[in-house]
Amino acid sequence: MGSSGIAAKKIEISGVVQGVGFRPFLFGLACAHHLCGHVSNTSSGVALFIQGKPENLDAFLLDIPEKKPLLSQISNMVSTDMQPLDLTDFTIIKSRDARTKSALISPDVGVCPNCLKEMQDPADRQFEYPFINCTNCGPRYTIIQDIPYDRPNTSMKSFAMCPDCRKEYEDPLNRRFHAQPNACPVCGPQVFLLDNKENQVDGNDPSQAMALAAQFLKQGKIVAIKGLGGFHLAVDAANATAVDLLRQRKKRPHKPFALMAARDSSLFNHVYLDRDEKDCLGPITGPLYC
Ligand SMILES: [Zn+2]
Ligand SMILES: [Zn+2]
Repeated sequence: MGSSGIAAKKIEISGVVQGVGFRPFLFGLACAHHLCGHVSNTSSGVALFIQGKPENLDAFLLDIPEKKPLLSQISNMVSTDMQPLDLTDFTIIKSRDARTKSALISPDVGVCPNCLKEMQDPADRQFEYPFINCTNCGPRYTIIQDIPYDRPNTSMKSFAMCPDCRKEYEDPLNRRFHAQPNACPVCGPQVFLLDNKENQVDGNDPSQAMALAAQFLKQGKIVAIKGLGGFHLAVDAANATAVDLLRQRKKRPHKPFALMAARDSSLFNHVYLDRDEKDCLGPITGPLYC
């Protein structure tokens, strides 16, 4: 501890701590405990230098594993005493280079309750936008082309963020701070429906596109849904004729297809799920595949 009653520590944290809101979490936590310092991504996770009153430092350290972001996983945390520096605030240092080659990347995660609420709010700018996401949810692994996990290294790089999205992306206290796939109806991927001659059939209306796709599925048609990692060929699983047609066209006579459901309860009549499997498919995982 320095003569001013200020203590300092270097803390290195490894695990799934990049692309999951970990640095903004530490930023908020440091502010809440009146601490100064900085945090950056490293080759194996994040490193932070933190200083302030010893009791605040202790509380901060206890809070990290307690309050960490939903998708993060800490595999190791090492703290070393340091000499305090002349610091007046807490800053997030931008990833500087491509040294971060061994950091773990989060899997894709289904929409979180906060995003779902915005998506269902007619007054929200993301109303009914199916590609809504934040640091607690959305695509990760599927869109990553290289690490460090920054937007230019993802398949979202061709979508330039609009001012509203950029504002969220740059605000350390926003839920979308550094949410690399952040997008909205103005600047992000669009929804549209094409027929098998590649003519658009939805009259330029995303809701109409989704309603028509649902209608086609009910009629036993095959709908190819372009997702983050390629196409899903979808049919109504309860319609044997439609499933047969898909089997013929895919030349896949016997091998089971993946089953997709909106929630686990709608699967209980069809598949057996043990407790671990149910946990894996829990409320934050969105569509289920089994
Ligand atoms: Zn979310
Ligand atoms: Zn936008």
